[in-house]
Amino acid sequence: MIIAVDGPAASGKGTLTRRLAKHFDLAVLDTGLLYRAVGLGVLRRGGDPADADAASEVARALNPADLHDPELRSEAAGGAASQVAAHPGVRAALLDFQRNFANFPPGSKEGAILDGRDIGTVICPDADVKLFLTASAEVRAERRVKELRERGSEAIYARILRDIEDRDARDASRAVAPLEPAKDALVIDTSDMDADQVFDTALAHINKSQN
Ligand code: C5P
Repeated sequence: MIIAVDGPAASGKGTLTRRLAKHFDLAVLDTGLLYRAVGLGVLRRGGDPADADAASEVARALNPADLHDPELRSEAAGGAASQVAAHPGVRAALLDFQRNFANFPPGSKEGAILDGRDIGTVICPDADVKLFLTASAEVRAERRVKELRERGSEAIYARILRDIEDRDARDASRAVAPLEPAKDALVIDTSDMDADQVFDTALAHINKSQN
């Protein structure tokens, strides 16, 4: 079984993905980490995430071991990720890794769940189940502020909201693999839902579509 979970930043993808992975015993890939690792790699080399050649070079040399760096969760890495993600060379370099993960899940799992922006549209267009999570920018900014503060980081709501809006605009307007729901995706607006309600909605849909 392959499940695709797409949607904008802080829409609840990560939480839902982890819960579904546990429920169905699936291998999990947070594909945002790939773009974050490329963005951070460029920054650490003193490069500019807007430079397509520099970012593509880092993407081609990416090592899956780089995905465990705690710094990848920072807002700086997220911002750089959304810039490098617009380069076609970066997306092409990361494509095979993601498709191989979906088709040959590690850890002898029977299937995989991938979360990102283009899983249902580009990476796994034949996924068995496609979910697209969304929520208002304000609700997503509040969630991100709470998450950052819980981790002990400082977070200013107005700045986080602006970052989320900037990232949404970049993700939705890029020429390659823009953020949009696949035609056959179930769209779940999580603005007024808690994690249990999102999980129950997704599970009911999956069980129905598997019968
Ligand atoms: O999901 P996360 O916030 O970790 O993603 C960071 C950035 O990586 C996103 O803003 C998006 O620009 C990019 N991304 C992408 N395609 C994916 C996953 C993430 O373009 N499949």
